[in-house]
Amino acid sequence: MTTFEGSYLGTSAKISAAAVMECKVCWTPYDPAEGDDTRQIDPGTPFLALPDDWSCPNCSAPKEQFLVHDDPGSDAAAEAALLSGLTAKLVTEFTEVWHAKMRDVPIVNNLLQVQAAGWGVHGGRPLGVLISPWFMNLVQLPSPGEDWSDLRAGQKEIMAFPSGDYEFIHNTRPVIGGYKACSLFSPMNDFKTQAQAIEVAEAVMVALFDEANRAETDRSDEIRAAREAELAAQAEAEAAEAAEAEADAGAAPADTVPSRRQLITGGLSDAQPDPADAPRDEA
Ligand code: FE
Repeated sequence: MTTFEGSYLGTSAKISAAAVMECKVCWTPYDPAEGDDTRQIDPGTPFLALPDDWSCPNCSAPKEQFLVHDDPGSDAAAEAALLSGLTAKLVTEFTEVWHAKMRDVPIVNNLLQVQAAGWGVHGGRPLGVLISPWFMNLVQLPSPGEDWSDLRAGQKEIMAFPSGDYEFIHNTRPVIGGYKACSLFSPMNDFKTQAQAIEVAEAVMVALFDEANRAETDRSDEIRAAREAELAAQAEAEAAEAAEAEADAGAAPADTVPSRRQLITGGLSDAQPDPADAPRDEA
């Protein structure tokens, strides 16, 4: 079996028939589209189909000395092409919403623009962050074989990630079709630059898959319980004090403990509105 010392660490299984290889001694390429005149190798011959004694046409280094230069047929290349096509559609679609309907809405932060960040394929489905001037959402799209055209807008779904469980809301758009979105920020007024939004989006994608954040969340439950007890005791004392004045001392703020979403967004996400309250058309 042919082995390679290069990018695929000795396995040839991941090299597609379209892989362009290159000699690591003299950088001469082997492009299957061209074949190799010097050895009567026909155009269209994959690198893996070359004779065992084939060697570099320039320096005679053996086949094993060739590295992958570019493999448009590899899984990684196919995935990158899929993601760039999908995120381009998302950006086009929400840029149109922005220009058509959101342009003069006060919650729009005009320092920002629509952009996709941190996209990858997780569990077979494209997942990443969509940044816009009025929201930042985690967005999941169907796998290439799935049809999400009949998703019911507004339907909620809890999804489990290593860092915890997150609520996604189903939606559809004319171009992208069905998608599921989890609100990270809305509005976006705390962001001063697009670069800052991208940095946060990329950090979210890392934090989402970090189990350490699940432990944080569990700890936050303990903190919340302790804080609630403290507030209750305080409220009781104040109620006793203020009883004569008929003051209402029992209304303790509930939003003093970071939510899980705040944890994955580094505490930048305050005062989360329920994503269901946002206009579904827009986010
Ligand atoms: Fe060579």
